[in-house]
Amino acid sequence: MTGLDIEKVLAGSIAEEMEIEPGDRLTAINGHPLRDIIDYNFFSAEEELSLEIVKEDGEVWEVEIERGAEEPLGLIFPAPVPFKCGNSCVFCFVHQLPPGLRSPLYVKDEDYRLSFLYGNYVTLANIGRMEVARIKEQRLSPLYISVHATDASLREKLLGKTGIIPVMEIMEELAASRITMHTQVVLCPGFNDGEALEQTVADLARFHPWVSSLAIVPLGLTRHRQGLPALKPVTRSYAAAFINAWETRAASLADRLGGPFLFLADEFYIKAGIPFPSLDTYGDLPQLENGVGMIPLFLAQAAEVIEQAELLTPCRVTVLTGSSPYRFLASFLKELGRKTGVKLRPVVVRNLLFGASVTVTGLVSGGDIIAALKDKKNLGDAVFIPDVMLKEGEGLFLDDMTVNEIEEGLGTRVVVVEPTPQGIYEAIKEVI
Ligand code: SF4
Repeated sequence: MTGLDIEKVLAGSIAEEMEIEPGDRLTAINGHPLRDIIDYNFFSAEEELSLEIVKEDGEVWEVEIERGAEEPLGLIFPAPVPFKCGNSCVFCFVHQLPPGLRSPLYVKDEDYRLSFLYGNYVTLANIGRMEVARIKEQRLSPLYISVHATDASLREKLLGKTGIIPVMEIMEELAASRITMHTQVVLCPGFNDGEALEQTVADLARFHPWVSSLAIVPLGLTRHRQGLPALKPVTRSYAAAFINAWETRAASLADRLGGPFLFLADEFYIKAGIPFPSLDTYGDLPQLENGVGMIPLFLAQAAEVIEQAELLTPCRVTVLTGSSPYRFLASFLKELGRKTGVKLRPVVVRNLLFGASVTVTGLVSGGDIIAALKDKKNLGDAVFIPDVMLKEGEGLFLDDMTVNEIEEGLGTRVVVVEPTPQGIYEAIKEVI
């Protein structure tokens, strides 16, 4: 069925003036049937619009609108329902989840539209010529593409799917149409590293500047990998050797291409215990959401916050973190404590839900927090929980626990904070 259900009509908007109401369905603009919000954005860009509206009682209205170029219609639609993923990637995190989590966590999405709208990574293994034509026509740029390997047969092996259009063919076509692409390789030792990775990097660099960045991120393995292909973890020595081999290549590629292109995920440096490159080697941080440059950015921001921090009314705060960023957070809190006079205690929350190899802060559950703090005395005036541990906008942990339940379980005030130096500093001022 074509068309979009109208969720809300903004007060005082053109749509309200035209008596369009929530519950109506917008089916076409200027004669173009609408498939989704992208079509809506694309076809509603004109100043003169003819909207086909199906009212709740089935009556069809033709609504003619003339408006200024920047004047919004005032229509709000629900988020698009994502297309499902038909892959079976050897490293897929969803396949490694324990039972009993929130059901949406088991849903595998793979939707190029969400890649454009929200920056989600997609493999493009579920699209055909029609979708490629649409991306070009509607200029769905930038896109975020999980390449993993440019060799077609290796890629099919990694994605656990055959008969897909080779990603190089699609990317060549998109590059020729000036669609910007950010890319990633999930590195699986023994699978897509070595010569395969060299080929992948060289192939993607050919499409620069349309392939604008390439992040290499290590695979994540949980303790729930029963019945799945055997994979090797990225160990401390592997990470060190990998940085050794690829850091200089990334630098020479940056010289050749006129700016940073190839990025190694923070996780490699954390695992290897090797100092990070300077923040300026990350350019404008195009892969920040992918865990690339987060720690260097944190360190730079920490120095600024320490510089401006003032003496505060003494109090005691416990600050929670996953194990990956612990040492960077701990040294920031030490300095901040010295400057403000506040006692700041970092506490690592070990990941019992997924296993010790999962070290990122965002995958800590409510149960992990309770387990980490239950025997700790003197949690202080407040416990700071990084907001990345919670589902955005819902205040729920991965295991469905709520912040209130944690607060009751600990018997201490809990404050959800933005896990940045400034976020932590501002939250301390609120506790006092
Ligand atoms: S694309 Fe691969 S990793 Fe992503 S959800 Fe699908 S199977 Fe899992």
